Amino acid sequence: MPDIQCQQCKRPYPTQGLPYRCPACGGGLAFDGPITLDLDRVEADLPGIWRYRHTFSLFPGAQVVSLGEGNTPLVWEELDGLRLGLKMEAMNPTGSYKDRGTAVLVSQLAARGARSAVEDSSGNAGASFAAYAARARLGARVFVPEAASGPKRAQIEAYGAELVCVPGPRSAAAQAVQAAAGQGAVYASHAYLPFGLPGIATIAYELYAQLGRAPGSIVAPVGHGGLLVGIQQGFTALVNSGKIPGEPYYLAVQAERCAPLWWAATHSGGGEPAEGQTIAEGVRVKTPAHLATLLELLDGRRGAVAAVAEDDILPAYRELAGRGIYVEPTSAIVWSAIQPLMGRIPEPIVLILTGSGLKYQ
Ligand SMILES: [Zn+2]
Repeated sequence: MPDIQCQQCKRPYPTQGLPYRCPACGGGLAFDGPITLDLDRVEADLPGIWRYRHTFSLFPGAQVVSLGEGNTPLVWEELDGLRLGLKMEAMNPTGSYKDRGTAVLVSQLAARGARSAVEDSSGNAGASFAAYAARARLGARVFVPEAASGPKRAQIEAYGAELVCVPGPRSAAAQAVQAAAGQGAVYASHAYLPFGLPGIATIAYELYAQLGRAPGSIVAPVGHGGLLVGIQQGFTALVNSGKIPGEPYYLAVQAERCAPLWWAATHSGGGEPAEGQTIAEGVRVKTPAHLATLLELLDGRRGAVAAVAEDDILPAYRELAGRGIYVEPTSAIVWSAIQPLMGRIPEPIVLILTGSGLKYQ
């Protein structure tokens, strides 16, 4: 089972405490090897993601903190005569895919004896964290950008978390939470702590079970990139276990107004990408935690990055709703991005629909 280590100095994660960066050198944290998946060890009597518990690298004594996340449906739609699989991640307990990672993250926090923690988010991760913290009876303080949607803010507060609205762009909320972490708070970062990635990887195992094979292509929104990195790690585990011959093609989708991954993949030389206002608030991340990993993955053979024009987002949101699929604008960007690529990327194509339309006012 892989362990967490510093990506720079390779020191192992401390045996006590919950730092979100290497305490020795400040480097980022990651698992020291691929996820080990053994389909003979799947615990079919456990709900949702927990049947894959042996892949989570849980601390000794970690309890299951669950609200029934995972096991979401795969629904088929037709576009231009081709079938598209829609992975309905909005059907998770708090209305977004984040719950898969948060359930594992909060289980790990509880195993280390945390009593309270802070988190920052455009809304979905904050709502998810607030819910699982409540479930585990942990105190939660969530920093969100002032522009975060009303339903997400109401949801965070309803779970009993302390909501801190930070004026300015998404990055201002990130700076505020890092200041709190600097004063000793446990920073339950869904972006910097790798605990949740094996939880997100369960999307890959479920798709394999639902399709009886690997998808040809995966299309997913990218903010920090944890969703796509987690899914990719899941497919790597399936390849390593001999269940599938190769990984799918990956299409990462960003909103053009804040598209640092797309910018890095398509620009060379100086300057920096914009952090513009977009209704796809869930992918408005100026400095993605998984930027380097994704740039390496999406090198043109294994995948690509698309940026969706702002004017195309609401029409995609409405078109999906017109087919009975109610997702937030952040999720709808994949519907827009896929249209020029129909027939040009491997099939079957699966779109990850990340969050509920009820989160958007
Ligand atoms: Zn280090």
